[in-house]
Amino acid sequence: MTQEWDAGRLNSDLDGVGFDTLAVRAGQHRTPEGEHSEALFPTSSYVFRTAGDAAARFAGEVPGNVYSRYTNPTVRAFEERIAAMEGAEQAVATASGMSAILSIVMSFCSAGDHVLVSRSVFGSTISLFEKYLKRFGVQVDYVPLADLQAWAGAFKPNTKLLFVESPSNPLAELVDIAALAKIAHEHGALLAVDNCFCTPALQQPLKLGADIVMHSATKFIDGQGRAMGGVVAGSTKLMTDVVGFLRTAGPTLSPFNAWIFLKGLETLRIRMQAHCSSALQLAQWLEQQDGIEHVYYAGLASHPQHELAARQQSAFGAVVSFEVKGGKEGAWRFIDATRVISITTNLGDTKTTIAHPATTSHGRLSPQERESAGIRDNLIRVAVGLEDVADLKADLSRGLQAL
Ligand SMILES: *Cc1c(COP(=O)(O)O)cnc(C)c1O
Repeated sequence: MTQEWDAGRLNSDLDGVGFDTLAVRAGQHRTPEGEHSEALFPTSSYVFRTAGDAAARFAGEVPGNVYSRYTNPTVRAFEERIAAMEGAEQAVATASGMSAILSIVMSFCSAGDHVLVSRSVFGSTISLFEKYLKRFGVQVDYVPLADLQAWAGAFKPNTKLLFVESPSNPLAELVDIAALAKIAHEHGALLAVDNCFCTPALQQPLKLGADIVMHSATKFIDGQGRAMGGVVAGSTKLMTDVVGFLRTAGPTLSPFNAWIFLKGLETLRIRMQAHCSSALQLAQWLEQQDGIEHVYYAGLASHPQHELAARQQSAFGAVVSFEVKGGKEGAWRFIDATRVISITTNLGDTKTTIAHPATTSHGRLSPQERESAGIRDNLIRVAVGLEDVADLKADLSRGLQAL
């Protein structure tokens, strides 16, 4: 949106530019001050020149800000930049990744509607559907992520929405997004993809046919573990509904966090490249080590969906999971022996993290549920940061020696 104060020559002409240029410049509307870096607008409300101006803005007859639960210039800059990077007509920022998911369901589903969710989604995503959305009459079934026949067989006449995470956490399973989008559309349903693990630097689900893409911006978009946020993107038609929910219910993004994410997006691709390069080196190295029973990383030729990953993503991501000898005790000894890597379940940070999924992120599941999700007691997940690979290998070697 061009503001009346838009400073013309001060702003970039971005017709036909590439991904990296969009990441650095899209969404910035400089003020007449001519600030080079994006301005931060920590304001809850806006003033009007006249009562008539206020009335026209409230009526939507003239564009302009009214209140920061509705629009804020810094938040809008972030929305425009991430929309450009995802190839979306419009993006809408939210207070967290979870509020992005809530906004999608609240915007497109009603009591009595049916949603299909991939089995291996983020733990809080399952809690949101099971503990809350079901109470309001939304029906939910879970489908094994990679199994297209299972997806096709799971539809009901009232299926409105498919929600998937590809690749999955922590085992790096994938779904063929283009094929799943086709199946969804044949049944009149929308496909939403949680693109948190890949970011638009590695995978652009809308270009593969998905209708909606969402992120926890808390992860790689910030990339430095500082701020919570989320975003939903898609066609203007769909996003108009999401905007309506957010304005009314209020889980909008703070301008300060939007400003952090704007700066995060500028380095997103080169960070993702470095994360992925180190992760691939570590996965290949781990596969050779005694004490490691199995490595899960889609960049390895041993991964059953390696070819799909190479086709659908431009690199294989930052998360490497592996099973060690010695069961749960072995896994805990391995984790406790590290001295550089942080013991935490977070990911998408410059700092490498290590976690034991069976007793943390997946600890609330019953042993049978964990078994069916493929989360064994000897599984360790590493989310690779930006330290020297040699130092990460040395730290993981301490773990290997402790097995
Ligand atoms: C972290 C995460 C979320 C939730 O995001 P928050 O910003 O923590 O609310 C959703 N999906 C995935 C894949 C995540 O990793």
